[in-house]
Amino acid sequence: MRIRTSQFVLAALLMLASISVLFFMKVTGIEGVGNVRDWAIICITGLIIVFGLIRSGYSLRWSDPSMAFVQMLSAIACNAAAFALAGNGRGVTLPLLAVILMFGMFGLSMRQVISVAIYALVLFGVTILFVVKYASTGEPLALYGAYFLMVVVVLSSSTFLTWRLRQMREHMRSQKNQLSVALEKIQLTANHDELTGAINRRHMLELLSRETQRSSRSESPLLIAMLDIDYFKRVNDTYGHQAGDLALQKFVQTVQASIRTSDILARWGGEEFLIIMPDAELDIGMSGLERVRVQVAEQVVTFAGSSFSFTVSIGVAQYHKGESFEKTVIRADQALYAAKAQGRNQIVCVKDA
Ligand code: GH3
Ligand code: MG
Ligand code: MG
Repeated sequence: MRIRTSQFVLAALLMLASISVLFFMKVTGIEGVGNVRDWAIICITGLIIVFGLIRSGYSLRWSDPSMAFVQMLSAIACNAAAFALAGNGRGVTLPLLAVILMFGMFGLSMRQVISVAIYALVLFGVTILFVVKYASTGEPLALYGAYFLMVVVVLSSSTFLTWRLRQMREHMRSQKNQLSVALEKIQLTANHDELTGAINRRHMLELLSRETQRSSRSESPLLIAMLDIDYFKRVNDTYGHQAGDLALQKFVQTVQASIRTSDILARWGGEEFLIIMPDAELDIGMSGLERVRVQVAEQVVTFAGSSFSFTVSIGVAQYHKGESFEKTVIRADQALYAAKAQGRNQIVCVKDA
């Protein structure tokens, strides 16, 4: 409503300025100026009706509540009438036609703009013929021809400019869409590991900080598990690096499917992974991780005709309220080291004092 009203106010100011110019020509005695007062009354009445329809909300029932199309048609009619009335001062009314058409560049569809241009062409054609026959102040006929040509120039150039504006807007819109798609992609790659799709170490550091702070605040338990694939070097050496990559992808899928949705898995480095388990007491966390260990061991990876399996060692530590998450991660790492030392394919939990 505010935009509609402000656009209307702009149109009304334009109309008042034009009325003033016509009165000025009348007062200063320019030859042939007709009944400006009646013309002004009719134009202002039209404006008031439009204003009433917009402000009362009545125009909301129509497909174009700003009534831009109707306002353009009536403004052009007023403009053509001013041309007929202005006597020797007719020339000053033509620039206004260009300004009226500028309004259409913003609010109207391309079809409406073309309709308005055709309407204006016919209306000015008829008006010029009318003036030549009934209201001429004795100007040479060629001058009327020039007026008409000017109308054609104004109409065709404003229609062309509207079309160009549409194209630019369309172009900008598609660029904006491309940008938001690119931004989404950047955000995704900034937080995720390219190979496995798991959260990367950088983002995990943010999540560790967030989750440990939350745990400190709410005094809810939190576990951190460090996972390392056993003898992964052998997988690469035996089946090739590509098979190793595939194994890492399958590993992430299997772990994701085994943990709770509230648990967070990240690739910590090479074939090392970290899991944050919020709100997990030790026994619940351990049984969840046992599920992970078993599922990983049971998984078979097939690559280029060969199949292989591997196991994972897991170290677990409980987060202590108020400590830095780095300390918990170090304890989980020590537990992982112990799991490796004790023969791998097992879970070791740091016993808290
Ligand atoms: P351990 O049981 O002691 O953990 O033995 P390991 O062979 O898994 O240990 P180590 O840390 O020595 O080897 C890790 C291997 O993981 C070495 C490295 O080539 C491999 N690796 C790390 N990142 C990638 C990766 O992105 N793709 C592949 N294919 N291999 C990787
Ligand atoms: Mg390893
Ligand atoms: Mg390792």
